[in-house]
Amino acid sequence: MNEYLKHDEWCIIEEGFNPENHRASESIFSLGNGNMGQRAMFEEHYSGETLQGTYVAGVYYPDKTRVGWWKNGYPEYFAKVLNAPNWIGIDVKINGEMLDLAKCEVSDFVRTLNMKEGVLERSFVATLSNGNKVKVEAKRFLSIVTSEVGAIRYSVTPLNFDGKIGFTPYVDADVTNEDSNYDEQFWNVLQTKSMKGEAYITAATKKLDFHVCMSMKYEVLKDGQKVDLNLSLTENAKYVANTVEVDAEQDQEISIYKYAAVLSSLNHSKTDIASDALSVVEAAQAKGYGALLEEHVNAWADKWDHSDIVIEGDIAAQQAIRFNIFQMNQTYTGEDERLNIGPKGFTGEKYGGSTYWDTEAYCVPFYLSTSKPEVTRNLLIYRHKQLQKAIENAKKLGFTNGAALYPMVTMNGEECHNEWEITFEEIHRNGAIAFAIYNYIRHTGDKKYLEEYGLDVLIGISRFWSQRVSYSQAKKKYVMLGVTGPNEYENNINNNWYTSTIANWCMKYTQEAMAHVKETNSARFEEIMKNLNFDFETETAKWNDIIENMYYPVDEETGVFLQQDGYMDKEQILAADLDPAIRPINQHWSWDRILRSCFIKQADVLQGIYLFEDQYDLETIRKNYDFYEPRTVHESSLSPCIHSILAAKIGDEERAYNLYLRTSRLDLDDYNKEVHEGLHITSMAGTWMSVVEGFGGMRVVNGSLVFNPMLPKVWKSYSFKVRFRGNLLNVRVSEEGVGVINEEGEAINIFIKDDEYKVEKESSLVVENA
Ligand code: BGC
Repeated sequence: MNEYLKHDEWCIIEEGFNPENHRASESIFSLGNGNMGQRAMFEEHYSGETLQGTYVAGVYYPDKTRVGWWKNGYPEYFAKVLNAPNWIGIDVKINGEMLDLAKCEVSDFVRTLNMKEGVLERSFVATLSNGNKVKVEAKRFLSIVTSEVGAIRYSVTPLNFDGKIGFTPYVDADVTNEDSNYDEQFWNVLQTKSMKGEAYITAATKKLDFHVCMSMKYEVLKDGQKVDLNLSLTENAKYVANTVEVDAEQDQEISIYKYAAVLSSLNHSKTDIASDALSVVEAAQAKGYGALLEEHVNAWADKWDHSDIVIEGDIAAQQAIRFNIFQMNQTYTGEDERLNIGPKGFTGEKYGGSTYWDTEAYCVPFYLSTSKPEVTRNLLIYRHKQLQKAIENAKKLGFTNGAALYPMVTMNGEECHNEWEITFEEIHRNGAIAFAIYNYIRHTGDKKYLEEYGLDVLIGISRFWSQRVSYSQAKKKYVMLGVTGPNEYENNINNNWYTSTIANWCMKYTQEAMAHVKETNSARFEEIMKNLNFDFETETAKWNDIIENMYYPVDEETGVFLQQDGYMDKEQILAADLDPAIRPINQHWSWDRILRSCFIKQADVLQGIYLFEDQYDLETIRKNYDFYEPRTVHESSLSPCIHSILAAKIGDEERAYNLYLRTSRLDLDDYNKEVHEGLHITSMAGTWMSVVEGFGGMRVVNGSLVFNPMLPKVWKSYSFKVRFRGNLLNVRVSEEGVGVINEEGEAINIFIKDDEYKVEKESSLVVENA
């Protein structure tokens, strides 16, 4: 752990400059607006350790797979989120000397991420080797109103001299990805142009030819008055800049306002992209920094109004939950069904910015409750659009008859993971995609989705499962061989309980979905059956035979569901017995040792119990939880939230709370010692789940919202908002009881514990503790 950030309700604050923390801070203080994002690199030149990251949504590079020994079935490429041309850069010279925090004395350094307003701020005093002392203040944001625009205010005040302050605002396309497989640059620069007060670069990605254009404009102010620009222009093959120099007196603030437009060929024609970028940046400058900031802050206020969680009495927990919600809202805004949510969002290169099962298993519940239904619907449609590719993907592996296997890692529907042994066999992802459809309908009531998009996907997935199992004569049951469950610390195992459970559920739910469409729109049903060539009698008979005769490993002695056939053959040691010095084990043990050990990376059986909780009694949940939690090392960020929810379910408040802190402060306190690589964006949705579903005990049961709340001892109260079928509810849990305000929508019936209550339109309900 590394606890160097100050606790505050609305801000993340770093005081004092420690270069060792800089890469971690670059991740933590990242900004994004759904359309683009960036790590918190400095505007001014920095020669110290840094991971430069400027990302544009949907723009990626298919980097040719690099393996020692090629095998049939390996994906051709691993998609990379691209480090795009840097548009935030402003080199600063003080009397001719470059300002570089790695080369000068730094004091009063404060970096603040203001989450309420979506703004990154930084201030410091630097003493350069020429003896000049300056105070610097920098503030920037990526507009969530005009999502192609970013703006920076950067000011320098001489503290002990009169002299020259030089600014060089630039755009630089000479950028690389740290994770490039063959050390190549991914961009071809098409055009560079530097003019008085503005400049731009158009660049195209190699192979897929995505175009982006970064344009900039700026103004320089002295004593709040615009300065006439006495400037020089630079226009190189990959770099454009203007340089201006201003005479400043001691204590006189010189500031530069830099506006940038970041456009991509996802939304603009390649021929017009440069002129469009100039128009967008011109409009931004005309509107002005203050007005852009004001509308941005107002838009954030609106976002918070729907998604905030307020925790009274525990500032660390409050800060953490807001950090998680903030990052989710920065990463995905749900307006574009071509986009999805990479595990690191816009905060680092790891996982290539691709889509994983994380979206369906973790992010969907968050967006369902905090956004309008269209946001989640777009996430589902993303997969619907990739159905044909999922069918081709299954075909390549020998499956027939329209069976669909969605990729574990993808940008465009093609599989593009880079670790076959682990990732490929995680076929459980197919189940999460089906479950998300069910979850969406359960939450929104939008059953029409089935006939429009959902049923095709469900049938493709169920067809896959029915071919993926095999019949064991020895067991007289259907078995599922050679899979990897969510726990990636075991590969190629037989009968992973979770995978078999979700596969079976898919085949059942698909039949329910078919029955619904048949009943409500028989013409559409017939059409789907015909399009998919679905042989109803034969195919469903096969599914039902599997459903009834699926094999699930269970420990005879304890009745615990077994993660896989051989799990009990492993030496049974508990995570608490591990020497803390060798944790995380994935940074200390050989892969071979990890695979042989009983240690579990992340919720596996418990993931299944979480999803299908209503099928198990409390005793069964407790027994499995008590068995698996002590063996789980939580080395995936996706793990502690599920354990926290189940701990709350069985009334283990202490563990629920500790696991909550672990999930919510995972990145802020760097539990897994990897935050420098980027933030764990997708698991942040899990943190939200651990408050709302864990402590709040929120479930949807038979079409109604049910709350079974508990209040962690250290909290005075907590409150959250839930969008549910046309209503927006504000739920507050305190020592006194539960309060619910029906902020939007008609009267609604809900359950608190076992009792049903009606909350009238625009009214509130208070249920006091007995
Ligand atoms: C987890 C996977 C997850 C991936 C991306 C891995 O560490 O084990 O379950 O999909 O990260 O977040």
